[in-house]
Amino acid sequence: MIDLPALWRPPEYPGAPAEIERKLDVLTSRLIAVARNHRDARLASSLSVEDMLLTDIIFNDLGRARETLSVFTLETGLLHRETRELLEESAGRYPGLMTVYEPDREKVAAYVTANGVHAFYDSLELRHGCCALRKVEPLNRALQGADAWITGQRRQQASTRIALPLVEDDRARNIRKYNPLADWSEAEVWAAAKTRNVPVNTLYHKGYPSIGCEPCTIAVKAGEDIRSGRWWWEQSNRRECGLHVPPAPAD
Ligand code: SF4
Repeated sequence: MIDLPALWRPPEYPGAPAEIERKLDVLTSRLIAVARNHRDARLASSLSVEDMLLTDIIFNDLGRARETLSVFTLETGLLHRETRELLEESAGRYPGLMTVYEPDREKVAAYVTANGVHAFYDSLELRHGCCALRKVEPLNRALQGADAWITGQRRQQASTRIALPLVEDDRARNIRKYNPLADWSEAEVWAAAKTRNVPVNTLYHKGYPSIGCEPCTIAVKAGEDIRSGRWWWEQSNRRECGLHVPPAPAD
């Protein structure tokens, strides 16, 4: 019998529960500070465990400070069934909090007609074109009118994020961008989500540490780079979808 390599699993946190409580207090303070400093700050949620943790705190712990914060997600049209189920569960758990943005159907239809249903596998240019239509354009629409946005990015997630600051200037939109989990480890995020009983995508328990669109995401093995299952056919170690341009630390 051949032993198959084990799939990635959510990590266990080796530290004391009190340390997670302390980090959660700091995280809540960071979100309250964002809420107080802006009239309309929006969390861009990919429904990742990081974004679900932030959503849970915004909904349950911010009191009146929540009035200037909101959450949105992008339904690209090519999400896994498990991700769509989490979206439904989130709507019930956090009623009225999350807005869903979809791509422009006519533009997507034109792209598919011109290039084919699976054109994103054919070239980097076509892959970026698909991400631009299904993710970047809806993101730009979702952020119109906002004076800040919030992400669940962490420094440990990718080589492109090693220098990620807690606060940066989004110079393209001329607004602030906050990464309140920048200095959190993967194990700390999972411990906090477990402590708070935050709903998470069931794909995490099937070997998916980073979850995007279904055709562009595969499970990874234990010990592999956590983003190696995203656009797995590409060679570059700078695989991103264009939602996050390199950071410009705030002055
Ligand atoms: S992740 Fe894949 S399917 Fe999703 S928008 Fe990008 S190229 Fe298209």
